[in-house]
Amino acid sequence: MLQVSYFDGHTSRRHPVTLDLQFGEWRLSGEQLQRRVPVAEASLSEKIGNAPRQLHFDDGAYCLITDHAALELMLQAAGMQPHSTVSRLEGKWRYALASFVLIAVFFTAAYQWGLPWAANVVAHRLPASLPALMDEQTMAMLDQYVLEPSELPPARQQEIAQALSDLQPAQGDAIPEFHLVFRKSEAIGPNAFAMPGGTILLTDELVHLADESRQGKTQQGKSLAQAQILGVLAHEIGHVEHRHALRQFVQGTIVAAVVTWYLGDISSLLAVAPAALLNTRYTRNFEREADAYAAATMLGNGMSPAALADMLNNMEQHYRQQETADDGVETAETQWLDYFSTHPNTQERIARLRGLSVEEARP
Ligand SMILES: [Zn+2]
Repeated sequence: MLQVSYFDGHTSRRHPVTLDLQFGEWRLSGEQLQRRVPVAEASLSEKIGNAPRQLHFDDGAYCLITDHAALELMLQAAGMQPHSTVSRLEGKWRYALASFVLIAVFFTAAYQWGLPWAANVVAHRLPASLPALMDEQTMAMLDQYVLEPSELPPARQQEIAQALSDLQPAQGDAIPEFHLVFRKSEAIGPNAFAMPGGTILLTDELVHLADESRQGKTQQGKSLAQAQILGVLAHEIGHVEHRHALRQFVQGTIVAAVVTWYLGDISSLLAVAPAALLNTRYTRNFEREADAYAAATMLGNGMSPAALADMLNNMEQHYRQQETADDGVETAETQWLDYFSTHPNTQERIARLRGLSVEEARP
């Protein structure tokens, strides 16, 4: 028996009563009240901290129970689970679980579709000066840590820049504004990277890799190396055209903003912004769009997309050798890999690019 407060559900008057559990019945006994209610016609609320538990009856009356220990002993003595006493409660759990699943589905959908959509909208409405500023800061940071001045002969730089600006747009629209910069970087290795404001970074190492794989070849070999380099650059221009870097960055910023808002520290958001940009990994879709753009541009300018496929292959081999040489340890170079080639998809991308070349070759 334990002392509880009884409310009839109609008035706010509290009746002190004793509560007992016997023969499958709740038994209430007080000055003006004697009541027996079968267990099946009552429901007991879950224990939440030290809050009083409520024993509800079907007619709206209820008891407030504050002596948790005594109640649990009573439930145990009656052979009932101390926490969920009545099967009706399980219905509530199912309801809670269903709401939880619904909320999870909602957030997943928001993350999957709503977020990229919002990022796209925002990316197209940012003032042009902002992406330019991001490029400036990113280059400054890279120059400080991982980049060195290019050692490519100026004539070679000129040749690549000229060939790139001579490209005709394949899809009617003009080629988006971009700004090609040459840098040497042992840390990054053979790679290229498009920044939000249209700056395209090309490493000496990528040019060397293209040249080496065509060594000993004739004039045709030289133009094939050039096609490989232009293919990579066209791919990067594709990222600029579709504003991938900016969209990805805005998306990351929205997520970071929500997280910081939740954690309540906005200063950390500003601190992580440049790092977030450098950790960009493009989605499979973004790479596909950039490859399609490159392939169309190459075909429109008399080059085969297979050259880009070859280049991807060379790069992957290069990085794989590097990885083996370093005994599988993730080095600075392998971390940078994702800028141009996103790891698991490379073979799929190579196959698709080769397929495009074959289609074009058919009469
Ligand atoms: Zn890419």
